[in-house]
Amino acid sequence: MLKSIYEKIKKFNTIVIARHIGVDPDALGAQFALKKSIEKTFKEKKVYAVGSKSSKYNYFPKLDKYENIDKKALLIVVDTPDKKRIDITDIENYQEICKIDHHPFIEQFGEYEYIKTNSSSASELVLDFIKENNMFIDEEIAKYIFLGIVSDTNRFLFNTTANTFEIISSLIKKYNLDIEKLYQNLYMRPIAEIKFQGYIAQNMKITENGLGYVIITNEVMNEYGVDSSSAGNMINNFNNIEEVIVWATISEDIKNHLIKLNIRSRGPIINTVAEKYNGGGHKFASGARVPTMEIANMLIKDLDNACKNYLEQMEE
Ligand code: AMP
Repeated sequence: MLKSIYEKIKKFNTIVIARHIGVDPDALGAQFALKKSIEKTFKEKKVYAVGSKSSKYNYFPKLDKYENIDKKALLIVVDTPDKKRIDITDIENYQEICKIDHHPFIEQFGEYEYIKTNSSSASELVLDFIKENNMFIDEEIAKYIFLGIVSDTNRFLFNTTANTFEIISSLIKKYNLDIEKLYQNLYMRPIAEIKFQGYIAQNMKITENGLGYVIITNEVMNEYGVDSSSAGNMINNFNNIEEVIVWATISEDIKNHLIKLNIRSRGPIINTVAEKYNGGGHKFASGARVPTMEIANMLIKDLDNACKNYLEQMEE
């Protein structure tokens, strides 16, 4: 599969690399590692990394403007399992499409799809791709892959094996990565976010089945000077609470007229619950966007039931 995608790249002069909405460092790491490697391997090709930008991740290069890109191109979608989550809306205009992803399979939209769900991150899969095809890699590309792997494993807490450490170790050694600086990129945050984290801790409700959740209104976000993407990013800071096995933030996104749920688990499978509400993700790290608070509450109830069933099964 990796060779077939490489053959497609050879065939096209223009390559567009897209990823999921709700951008995060793994999606950007995968996009930019792939873009730079293709550009440096094939000097004559035009390669674009596209999608909506976020000033939060300004340690990555700027994304390319989408408007004037020639669609007689190859589209490679990274880190995205289904069409509705791709951060461009006109994929049918492309001549050919490939996918590189580590999410559970949802639907095929590309001719060639390299999917490995047990991989740490999409960035790791891009590294597989680069290595398999002897493509160019340097410190900059290694840096993007490092950022993607570290952030998507939540600093080696999830989806991490001996192999993940081997990959990271070899990237650091070979390309002399400045780990401290890269960690600062990922984890430095303003005091407003720390205070907001305090708000979440103070206001988290915990059910008797071990579901922890907090509803974050637009008013609260304004009060703390954060937005709904900061609210979503908080979810990984509540990993190891004794009384909690599934936890969720439910935040109002006034701009897009929806409610965003970020969900994590230490046992019950949650992506199937999120899928019922048009959401998805991984078994233990999922999300959904729903139109009303009423529907968000229904999802919360279903998550609580998933916790209950899980606890009952554990007792058997
Ligand atoms: P997040 O909480 O945004 O880090 O997302 C966790 C996982 O759930 C990621 O794999 C996302 O791709 C997935 N996810 C988040 N929101 C949605 C959604 N609305 N629909 C489908 N998958 C989602």
